Amino acid sequence: MIYRRLEEYFGDLHWWPAESDDEILIGSILTQNTSWKNVEKAIARLKQDNMMSLLAISGSKEDDISARIRSSGFYRQKASRIIRIAAAIVNRYGSIDSMRSLPTGDLVKFFSSLSGIGQETLDSILLYAFGRPVMVIDAYTRRIMSRLDYPAQFEDSDIRDAALHDLEHSVTDLKNYHACLVELGKNFCRKAPDCQNCPLRNECNYAMDFSSP
Ligand code: SF4
Repeated sequence: MIYRRLEEYFGDLHWWPAESDDEILIGSILTQNTSWKNVEKAIARLKQDNMMSLLAISGSKEDDISARIRSSGFYRQKASRIIRIAAAIVNRYGSIDSMRSLPTGDLVKFFSSLSGIGQETLDSILLYAFGRPVMVIDAYTRRIMSRLDYPAQFEDSDIRDAALHDLEHSVTDLKNYHACLVELGKNFCRKAPDCQNCPLRNECNYAMDFSSP
């Protein structure tokens, strides 16, 4: 199984790297359309100024947040988005903890109703902040899967169903699977792939068809 091979190679990557569920949710918005490196600076700044909580953010002005998250790009848009989402949670439920007993369907309904939360962000929140068994699919995942089974074409739903089936809905494995795919995408399965050194080279159609010996 692909995940076991990745786990063997990368180990437990302890993803999502956050000290609280508020930080996971805020980080999932900040990471939209930018690299994690840029997000880390924004997170550090919010923490340094004691603003890394939904409660603190929900009562903040856009300028107060945007000044602290500049490194994450689209900072005005993200500041207003984070404030709006934080306020929606605080006003309706009080905190993430108070939402824990909600069925997954209700969480999906609530977060999907907030603008600025697309499928990838929603799945990250469900998996990492609420511990629900979902597969997070990003551009790295799509590229890796399309190369592994090249020339087969996949819909996101095919990738999602296969992961849930293979990992038997294990939240721990689903968390690390996504983290491992991101690492693989960043370090090996880049636009120009480094198949010679990739831990999946022996089970990859693309490597067999295109990489030189
Ligand atoms: S072997 Fe090459 S194409 Fe296949 S997953 Fe690894 S880097 Fe990507």
